[in-house]
Amino acid sequence: MQRTWNFTDGTTIPVGTMYCIGRNYAAHAREMGATVADDPIVFIKPPSAYRTEGVPIELPEFSRDVHHEVELVVVIGADADTIDARSAWDVVAGVGVGLDLTARDLQSEAKKNGHPWSVAKSWKGSAPVSRIIPRHQCGRGPWELGLHVNDHIRQQGSTADMERSVEQLIAYLSTVFTLQRGDCIFTGTPEGVGPLRAGDHVRATLDGRPVLNMVCQ
Ligand code: MG
Repeated sequence: MQRTWNFTDGTTIPVGTMYCIGRNYAAHAREMGATVADDPIVFIKPPSAYRTEGVPIELPEFSRDVHHEVELVVVIGADADTIDARSAWDVVAGVGVGLDLTARDLQSEAKKNGHPWSVAKSWKGSAPVSRIIPRHQCGRGPWELGLHVNDHIRQQGSTADMERSVEQLIAYLSTVFTLQRGDCIFTGTPEGVGPLRAGDHVRATLDGRPVLNMVCQ
């Protein structure tokens, strides 16, 4: 099944690899009992993890503690191999807001045992993302992120507080991987992560505007 980024101007791009950054906000690192790492923490979600509005968030049966992590998502519009931060914005297709859904119970167990996070982080449906605002309309930030669950504010943050900027993340990732058109970057979550339950109504905002509405089942 071909999954696509849906841009607000009607453009679509096939979804590629989703690169996710851990602990990019100091306050979230603290709430997880951790510190900001010297090098970015990177993990990957496959295209099959992607969902967007119109379907429910399906909480997996293998977890009893799925957490929301609201994040700025940057979609890549052109291949990038070893580019520097100064030219990084040239390869951005647009930005949206996503949820890095995390089976926290499985992740804690994996951390304890030194195992990979793939099952805890990258299950099918673990990456809901809003429609994407094209680069010529989204500005270059900083952007305000918000997450409401059942109309209660759970997360609120500014990308100004990211430890590494969008441009720095693109430059770093392009030295390790080759970023390709349709790939994206989940840029990390501000503090306030917490559990989701069946029936919860999730609403994410970008600069105060609702961009993603989904219900958990
Ligand atoms: Mg995250």
